[in-house]
Amino acid sequence: MPDCYIALGGNQGSVRETFARALEHLNLHPEISVIQTSTWIETAPVGDQTSDPFLNGAAQLSTSLSPESLLLELQQLEAEWGRIRKVRWGARPLDLDLLLYDQRIISTDDLIVPHPACWYRRFVLDPLAEIAADVIHPEKQITIQELRQRLLVTPFRFVLAGLPPEETNSLIENLQQRYPEVLFSSWELQDSTESAFQEPTLIAWLGSPMSSTKFEDLPLIPRLNLSEYQGDTERIVHVLQSALDFQ
Ligand code: ATP
Ligand code: CA
Ligand code: CA
Repeated sequence: MPDCYIALGGNQGSVRETFARALEHLNLHPEISVIQTSTWIETAPVGDQTSDPFLNGAAQLSTSLSPESLLLELQQLEAEWGRIRKVRWGARPLDLDLLLYDQRIISTDDLIVPHPACWYRRFVLDPLAEIAADVIHPEKQITIQELRQRLLVTPFRFVLAGLPPEETNSLIENLQQRYPEVLFSSWELQDSTESAFQEPTLIAWLGSPMSSTKFEDLPLIPRLNLSEYQGDTERIVHVLQSALDFQ
C-alpha cells in the first residue's frame, strides 16, 4: 500500500488531545493505517504574532485511498474539529497537510504533492526527519534529512531572483534590517566566482513569465517559486522565518 506522510498543526484548544483523536480517527478508517508518529514540537506562530504557539508534528500513514480521497478525509477531520477555513496560516484547532504520497508528484487546483512548503519549513522538516529521514523528496531528489541539514548551514544564504535590480535592492535592504545574520544577495547581480563555491540556501524567484531569469533556469534544490508573493514583503518574511527556525 502507498506510504504517505502528513503534517499536523494547531494552536487552539487542547492540541495534543486533538492530534491524538485525529490520528485515532484516521486509524479507524478501513483504508488507512497510522504507521508511526513524530514527537510534537512547539513552534512560535509565524506572521500573526498575537496568536498562541503552534504544536506541529508528522505522521506516516499507509493507505489504499487515492491522494485526492486522502485529502478529503483530512479536510473532513479538520472540519470536525471546528476549523473555519478562512485565514491561510492563521490560528486553527487542526491543520492537516498531505506532505508526501509515495514518490508521486501531483499538481492540480486542489492538491499539490509534495506539499510545496514541506522541503524548507523547519516546523515541518524537524518532525518529519524523525520518521522519514531517508525518504527521498521526489522533486528535489535528496532525502528529508539532507533537506533539513542544508537549512542549518550558516550563514543562511537567501538569494532573490526574477525582479528588476531596484526592487531587489530595496527588498534586500528591508529584509537585511530584520535578519542581520542572513546573507542576502541578488541572483542577477551575483559574482560568478563566489557563487561557484557557495550554494544558496534558498533562491526565492519573484519573477513573471516576462522576467529574463526563468524559474526553470535556477538550480533545482534551492529554488522556490514565490512569484505570487511579488510586492508582498510580509509573505516573503513568513517564508524566510519558517526556513530559519521554529522558536
Ligand atoms: P500551507 O498550505 O502553506 O501550509 P495552510 O495549511 O494554512 O497553508 P489551508 O488554508 O489549510 O492552507 O489550505 C489551502 C488549500 O491548500 C486547501 O484548499 C487545499 O485544497 C490546498 N492544498 C493543496 N495541496 C495540499 C496538500 N498537499 N495538503 C493540504 N492541502 C493542500
Ligand atoms: Ca499548513
Ligand atoms: Ca492546510
